[in-house]
Amino acid sequence: MKLHVQTLFVAIGLGIKRNWHIFLAIIAGVIFGNYIHENPGFLVPFVKVLNIIGQAFIRIIQMVVIPLVCSAIVVGISSIGDSKQIGKFGKKMILYYGIITVLAVALGAFLVLAIKPGIGVQSYISQASALELQNQVNSVITAQKGQLGNMFLNMIPQNPLESLSKGEMIPIIFFALIFSLALSKVGEINRPIVSFFESVFAATMKLTDWIMIFAAPGIFALTTVAVSSFGLSIFNTISKFFAVIFVGFILQLLVVYPLILKFFSKVPVGTLYTAVIEALLVAFGTASSSATLPLTIACCEKRGISHKVCSFVLPLGATLNMDGTALFQTVAVIFLTQAYGITIEPLQVIQIMILAIIASSTSAGIPGAGLITIALVLNGLGLTPQQMVEGFAFLFAIDRVVDMLRTTVNVASDAVVAAVIADNENEINYDLLNNTEEYKEII
Ligand code: ASP
Repeated sequence: MKLHVQTLFVAIGLGIKRNWHIFLAIIAGVIFGNYIHENPGFLVPFVKVLNIIGQAFIRIIQMVVIPLVCSAIVVGISSIGDSKQIGKFGKKMILYYGIITVLAVALGAFLVLAIKPGIGVQSYISQASALELQNQVNSVITAQKGQLGNMFLNMIPQNPLESLSKGEMIPIIFFALIFSLALSKVGEINRPIVSFFESVFAATMKLTDWIMIFAAPGIFALTTVAVSSFGLSIFNTISKFFAVIFVGFILQLLVVYPLILKFFSKVPVGTLYTAVIEALLVAFGTASSSATLPLTIACCEKRGISHKVCSFVLPLGATLNMDGTALFQTVAVIFLTQAYGITIEPLQVIQIMILAIIASSTSAGIPGAGLITIALVLNGLGLTPQQMVEGFAFLFAIDRVVDMLRTTVNVASDAVVAAVIADNENEINYDLLNNTEEYKEII
């Protein structure tokens, strides 16, 4: 009986062997979404249903993110105890995330300047629909100006409970970090709270495992909806732009990260990617590093990266380390200057790169965030609202698919940095990492 139920689950894309299910779900979503795009008709209501299924899947995984981040940080930091070691983790984290993001923007700038995808390209979005976005963009820029000034202040929560209820990740992480540090200094009296959070962590991990049973249908729904809105033919229109972004992401994944792993650690890149493949597929399907965080933590811990490192490095990475987003923003903005025939000097290229680093790290780990914060980079260049609006509309049309790709890159780099730090600090169990048959039971 049990076997029959399991076979049934596998047949409908639920249950074990999730990597393959998710992968096939993505392919099926692309094919089906494109079919709907070309033959809308009676299938349109179906897209609405799929949209609800997809959104439900994202919501349900986002639901565990806040309890997970809080419990992971409290348990992780209080187990480190020694504030010198926390400082060491912190410094390394900033260093490696910094290196990876600088390389990403440099790679993006190099590719877009060498291939020049923007030369001779016209925005194919109508002027009218482009103008519709004008107010939206203007208000984003105004809001961003205020926000930038207060960026550091906004990191400090006035009321941690209010930040919790609003789901503001950076203030939550800020409070959780210093609270856990204090907890680690008060001795045995911290046991009840630490035990409480240990239970919360275990339960959220269990919940993640249950939720992931629905990953394949959820991701199929999300991919179908995304592709049905633009169709695959859009890539002919902007093939050069898309090719530059795509090549940039591939080089980041297949050249930059392997080099970082080789220079700074002894973690084999293939082994690491195999360990986190499920998280990468979910990142692609959901276009959200925050929603993927429970999976990223689970994959890394199961295969031997210590809880200390994962609980510290991965939540911060999912919020601040957005190298895929930074690469995309650099390419997109330089592409627009090419499309509009604006000549930019090397100094402006550097300015774009710096602004992209800032803008990407202020992006939340949610779908489409990078496209909103790109306004900061465009604005820094003094593009007129009109020009910006047209460019925005163009980017808007294809953003979902680019977002899926850049989120995969963002999540991969979080795992790479966690692995490098774990290696440097002797916080990795190589027997577990190298043996694909084994994994640590964390739930
Ligand atoms: N969706 C991306 C992420 O969650 C952020 C972005 O829009 O670039 O990592």
